[in-house]
Amino acid sequence: MNIGYDLDGVIFKFGEAFNKYLLDKYNHTIDITKITEYSDLIRLIEGFNKDAMHDFLDGDEGHLLDAQPYEDAVGIINKRFNEGHNIYFITARHNEDIAIESLKRNGFSYTDIYFMHADSKYEVIKDLDLDFYIEDRLETLISIHEKGIKLIPVIRDQPWNRKSHPINFVRVKSLTDFDRLIEKILEIRREVD
Ligand SMILES: [Mg+2]
Repeated sequence: MNIGYDLDGVIFKFGEAFNKYLLDKYNHTIDITKITEYSDLIRLIEGFNKDAMHDFLDGDEGHLLDAQPYEDAVGIINKRFNEGHNIYFITARHNEDIAIESLKRNGFSYTDIYFMHADSKYEVIKDLDLDFYIEDRLETLISIHEKGIKLIPVIRDQPWNRKSHPINFVRVKSLTDFDRLIEKILEIRREVD
């Protein structure tokens, strides 16, 4: 199978990394649970310091080396990779070296990584012929849906992606739950074969 994973908010603890950055640089933190959509995050940060979000997202991303993966991430992804599945990371980060170093430090095995603007991710997702893609940004999944790309899009539950929308994406609370879904589909395919 071809399985695609977003990095921040899916593999890496984005909210925690952001708060650590704010604490180190501005001696300030925000309540991540109050953020109900992605634009809230930007508004909240800009209300406190208009450069902070820009620095965090558009700076050199060196601080993202400190981002910790979710506890289940390495085990689950490496298991699927070792079984022979293709593992693709698709991220809107722009510092390729930092992202690759983060994955290496944390011991991730993967097939390839793609760096795409969040609104253009669907292009590579289509080309890779993914079976599954997991993402925390609702707008990205909506763009995949609107392009009619055939795959199972899964949203990784986060405070900033819970606003109601007409499309019922499969929502999971963890990568462990996402992997259970993959296992179910594998079982069905084995039965059909
Ligand atoms: Mg993300």
